[in-house]
Amino acid sequence: MKKDIHPKLVTCTVTCACGNTFETLSQKDEMRIDICNECHPFFTGSERMVDTAGRIEKFNQRYAKK
Ligand SMILES: [Zn+2]
Repeated sequence: MKKDIHPKLVTCTVTCACGNTFETLSQKDEMRIDICNECHPFFTGSERMVDTAGRIEKFNQRYAKK
């Protein structure tokens, strides 16, 4: 049996630009990010981060106008 063809998930130490570190599961054992849930309250996932922030911003703008 070949085990190598499947990506192996390891405990990944993520280091954020703000200095925060946390652990997650990834194919890499080390990762550097610019923003994390500690310095970005709307963080929900690396791919949706910008989109989510934009939506929250629009929501707040709409809410503030009322
Ligand atoms: Zn951070």
